[in-house]
Amino acid sequence: MTGIAIYISFIILPVKNIIKFSLVFMLCASFKITTDKVYVCDSKGSVAYHGSKDCNGLNKCTHEVIYITKTDAVNTYSKRACKMCY
Ligand SMILES: [Zn+2]
Repeated sequence: MTGIAIYISFIILPVKNIIKFSLVFMLCASFKITTDKVYVCDSKGSVAYHGSKDCNGLNKCTHEVIYITKTDAVNTYSKRACKMCY
């Protein structure tokens, strides 16, 4: 029985460390994402992402304004940085 207990703790300990590491990593990652989010007008006519919600370019938007990461804005929505607020 002791052998099994030691064997199990050998498996569980690294798993605990992995969970701890991934939690720290997720915290860092989410912090980075939240500091790197932009506003995008969810319309085909809009071409830019905005750093400010009050930007004039965004006020013209008649569609929904979405708050996404800059990476998503560029890769998924093919937007470029707004000339007025970026
Ligand atoms: Zn703008």
